[in-house]
Amino acid sequence: MSGTKYVYDFEEGNKEMKYLLGGKGANLAEMTNMGLPVPHGFTVTCEACNAYRAAGRTFPEGMLDEVAEHLSSLESKMGRKLGDPADLLQMFGKTVMGVDGDHFEEAIDEAKNAKGVRNDVDLDDGDLRALVDQFKKIIVSQTGREFPLEPVEQLRQGIEAVFGSWDNKRAIDYRRKNKISDDLGTAVNVQSMVFGNKGDDSGTGVAFTRNPANGDPHPYGDYLPNAQGEDVVAGIRNTLALDQMGEVQPQAWSELQEDMQKLERHYRDMCDIEFTVEQGKLWLLQTRVGKRTAFAEWIMAYDMQDEGLIDVGTALLRLDADRLEELFKKVIASGGEPIATGLNASPGAAVGKAVFAADDAEAWARRGEPVILVRRETTPDDYHGMIRSQGILTSAGGTNSHAAVVARGEGIPAVCGADAIRVDRPGKRFTVGSTTVAEGDWVTIDGFTGKVYAGKLELADSPIERARSGDPEARREKIWQAYERFMTHADEVRRLKVRANADTPQQAANALERGAEGIGLCRTEHMFLGEERVAAVRTMIFASTAEEEQAAYDVLAPLQREDFIGIFKEMDGKPVTVRLLDPPLHEFLPDQVDLAVAVALAEQAGQDEVEVSGERIPLADASDMLAKVNDLHEVNPMLGLRGLRLGIVKPGLYAMQVRAIVEAACKVKRDGGNPIVEIMIPLAATREELAQLREELEPVAEQVIADAGIDLHVSWGTMIELPRAALVAGEIAEVAEFFSFGTNDLTQTTFGFSRDDIGKFLGMYEERKLVPANPFVTIDRPGVGRLMKIACEEGRAGREDLHLGICGEHGGDPDSVRFCHEIGLDYVSCSPFRVPTARLAAGQSAIGDASSSSK
Ligand code: PEP
Ligand code: MG
Repeated sequence: MSGTKYVYDFEEGNKEMKYLLGGKGANLAEMTNMGLPVPHGFTVTCEACNAYRAAGRTFPEGMLDEVAEHLSSLESKMGRKLGDPADLLQMFGKTVMGVDGDHFEEAIDEAKNAKGVRNDVDLDDGDLRALVDQFKKIIVSQTGREFPLEPVEQLRQGIEAVFGSWDNKRAIDYRRKNKISDDLGTAVNVQSMVFGNKGDDSGTGVAFTRNPANGDPHPYGDYLPNAQGEDVVAGIRNTLALDQMGEVQPQAWSELQEDMQKLERHYRDMCDIEFTVEQGKLWLLQTRVGKRTAFAEWIMAYDMQDEGLIDVGTALLRLDADRLEELFKKVIASGGEPIATGLNASPGAAVGKAVFAADDAEAWARRGEPVILVRRETTPDDYHGMIRSQGILTSAGGTNSHAAVVARGEGIPAVCGADAIRVDRPGKRFTVGSTTVAEGDWVTIDGFTGKVYAGKLELADSPIERARSGDPEARREKIWQAYERFMTHADEVRRLKVRANADTPQQAANALERGAEGIGLCRTEHMFLGEERVAAVRTMIFASTAEEEQAAYDVLAPLQREDFIGIFKEMDGKPVTVRLLDPPLHEFLPDQVDLAVAVALAEQAGQDEVEVSGERIPLADASDMLAKVNDLHEVNPMLGLRGLRLGIVKPGLYAMQVRAIVEAACKVKRDGGNPIVEIMIPLAATREELAQLREELEPVAEQVIADAGIDLHVSWGTMIELPRAALVAGEIAEVAEFFSFGTNDLTQTTFGFSRDDIGKFLGMYEERKLVPANPFVTIDRPGVGRLMKIACEEGRAGREDLHLGICGEHGGDPDSVRFCHEIGLDYVSCSPFRVPTARLAAGQSAIGDASSSSK
């Protein structure tokens, strides 16, 4: 191990070294080398952290010696020694020694109350000395350990605490949610202190080169005079808006503006900066490319392209396709009277029931209750509850408080610093004037305006939604201009087509509005629901003669035909893939146990009628039905009589559907439309199954076309949903003109995970890294993905012009879209709401290709 360098001075690094120095360390190095005013310091590398974790929490050999060397050179550069316990005490106790920060805050509150003052800065030296003693007692009583007085020992404990924090629950939750690898490790930065609490000519702040909430191209942030680092982020005291800093610190403010410009031009992106002013001198303590709302991300990309800072391809790649849906976030339809106003910390309106603890937020949300988490301020330990809330409301803290930063990062609406609100955490309620909102009461927050309302307000569509439906005012807004520009560009460059999964004309219309270029999956099962249709399906299932069965089809056929006419009309000139019936037949029958109980009870009571699905039927019929239900019962219905197996066992069923589809298409065509018909047969495992069905069904279609005297082409294809189908795709392609990957079933059958039950333990599986991500959300490339790749290659070898698509849920997941692009599919199909996401992801995949091939 010796020979590895574990510690780097800021002068030795740059921004490209973030895997070694961590994001913060790499950027501190970059700023130092840009000549910006960064206090001297050094970074202990991520490699050291990983070595420490691998060795069972033991520092790698030589690391502490390197730290000591860098520390003494730092001390000589600064002419100062590390370690005045009074400067370090509260943060150290909280962060390093794990003391709940509330204990310190309560001690400060008590001191202020005793003195009758509101702000920390009103406490004098004597009060602070008393507080230091108080803090030391808190540390001893909470940890059983003394506060370490030796600076190197403080540093050692500090490094250990940071390394250890990599494996705490909230860090793991965060990485899981943001798909960050556990193997990266964390670096530790040691930087000489500068003090923002040395009087009125000092202060501390957080600055963004542009507004991270709405994208405005002006500096934005908070400044807190006479205060120290964490005070701004912790939201403990209310802050000044950044542009008011000029009034109290004109020189430092103008330097800060200059440095911000330098940073933005250098990074070609919005930067966020933590800074301190010590007796008039500006110091930059941190920078990074700043987090922003999805809304701001689009506005900034648009402006920066116009300013010539980036080109259109770079702008497009900066948009997070996974967060595109945030642009469609609701706003409040019509306002009530706000009970309080805070800061508009994260956009979107939200309605939910008030809860006052993160654990409650999580528990309530798990049982399906929409919640607004209300806190005085949040801490990183609240993360699990925050991400499950519809919205977050805090009474303290600025636009860069923890609550605001997390909410923006997660796309959750938030109002922060609504200081008229008194949060009574133990009493589980808050009050504003005479209004009390207790746990479970409805609250509405508006993260666009910062307003808070008691009760459940009605929400309305976002500006993008309004613009899309033609509202001229909304169409003039910059967000709509940005949306138009980048979606148009994505459409121009993408190779993948984007279709939607839609079963009704309404869904088809919705999909078209969002830019769908066809329907990749029209599931026909919903067409068998409703009283009249279920009755006919049951007649078909129970039929004992061909005539009885045909009578049921005669009821269903015209209804189906009307359904298809509506869809073909809506999708005029665009392909529509209609899937023949897929689910097991028992889904159309009453529940086996319910029926058995009802029959048994009626028999026992000597009744001659039984209630089945809300209808009273003769006991004899119910007994027959029960016999049939028992007969059709399967232990594993998802692996049973479903998909084309149904079509083989009940040949009249698929023939009826094919007739209805083709008759509908002929009618639409005769009326001047242009239906493009693709008939999809689900769940093939063998070439023979498909060949047999095509032999039966193609003549049905041809007959309808001949009878109608219409020129209509019908394509025939199948879904690849079973590993065997993927492996014999070359053979299957001989009898299929197209494949559509049903990756929901393909994932189910490849992993042997039941898609209906896996939720019970998949979370634990992800946590233990037994699967890299939820394979029902993102295509599992090594397994399911590999089968897809084989099927594409062998399918196309069997039929050169084989058309390839995907219609499982993965078709709207950006990572999976990228994979579909890579293996050469022709299109992806997803839910209508995900169509813009898929279009953007497809465009980004094409740009990604172009930029990697030009390197
Ligand atoms: C699939 O299996 O991916 C699919 C689209 O079909 P369904 O979800 O209807 O089974
Ligand atoms: Mg399926």
